[in-house]
Amino acid sequence: MRSAESMQIMTNTMAKFIDVVGKRLPDDIVGKLSELRATEDSPLAKAIYDSMFDNLAKAAELDRPICQDTGVISFFVKAGAKFPLLASLNGILVESVRIATTDSPLRHNAVQIFDEVNTNDNIGEKIPYVHWEIVDDGDEVEIEIYMAGGGGSLPGRAITLMPSAGYEGIVKYVFDTMVDWGINACPPLLIGIGIAGSAEIAAILSKKAILRPIGTAHPNPKGAEFEKLMEKGLNELGIGPQGLTGNSTVMGVHVESAARHPSSLSVGLSVGCWAHRRGTIRLKKDNSYEIKSHAGVAL
Ligand code: SF4
Repeated sequence: MRSAESMQIMTNTMAKFIDVVGKRLPDDIVGKLSELRATEDSPLAKAIYDSMFDNLAKAAELDRPICQDTGVISFFVKAGAKFPLLASLNGILVESVRIATTDSPLRHNAVQIFDEVNTNDNIGEKIPYVHWEIVDDGDEVEIEIYMAGGGGSLPGRAITLMPSAGYEGIVKYVFDTMVDWGINACPPLLIGIGIAGSAEIAAILSKKAILRPIGTAHPNPKGAEFEKLMEKGLNELGIGPQGLTGNSTVMGVHVESAARHPSSLSVGLSVGCWAHRRGTIRLKKDNSYEIKSHAGVAL
C-alpha cells in the first residue's frame, strides 16, 4: 500500500479514536467509579455518582462528549524504530485532532501564548503535545491519548525541594496542593506523582503516572506502599465526589520515579478528574489497530 494511503488510514483511525476517548471513559475508570459509589454511605455522595453514570449513559446515547471541556489533547507515543510511518506520525496526529475537532465535535481549547488568540481547531504552538519514546526496534507504535481539561490541569505543579525535606516533604506538598486545589478538578481524582532530581522530569513523570491503568503499582515495594498510604490519607480528607464530601476523594495514587541528584528532590503532581479521558491504541504496519483501554470498541 502506498504510504499516502496508509497515512490517510492512520489519520482517520486516530481521529475516530479521539472521538471515542471523548465520549466513553476507559474500562478501568468506569470500574473504579462503580467501586467507589458502592463505598459511599451518604445519599448526597451516592447521588453525585448516579449523576456521573447518567452523564456517561447520555453521552453514549446522544453521541456527545462526556464533558463540555474536551481538553487540550496530548499523545504519549511509544514507538518501535521500524514503524513505517514514524517520520509522518507527528503530522498524522495533528491532522487527526483537526478532523476530530470538527467531527466529534471537540471544544476549541488551544489559545496561542502572547497573541492570546484561540486557534479554533485545537491546533496551536506545540499542541497537540506529543511525547516521544523509541522503545524497541519493532514495527508498531502504542499511543496514549489524553484529554487534559482545564479544571484537572489547575492542581498540576512541580517543585524542587531540599533533600532534607525527605519523603515527608513530598507528602506535605501533595496534601497542601490537594487541599487548596483538588476541589477545582472534579473529584474523585486520579493522582499522579513524579519523583526525580529536577522539576521537568518530575512533572512529565507525574503525567505518565496518571496514564497507568488503575490497579497497577510502582515496581519498588516501598513505592507501592507509598502509593497505598497516600491513597488512604487523601481519602481521609473527606473531600468526596465533586467536593461535596464523601468517603473517597481519589480513584488512586500512582507514582513514577527517576533517580535523583544527591542534592535535589523534585516532585511533580498531575491530576485526572472523574472524567479521566485517556485511551490506549496500538497501530500496526498493515494499518490495523488494537485498542487496549476500551473493550469491544471498533473504529
Ligand atoms: S475537571 Fe474534568 S469533569 Fe470537571 S469540567 Fe474539567 S474536564 Fe470536565
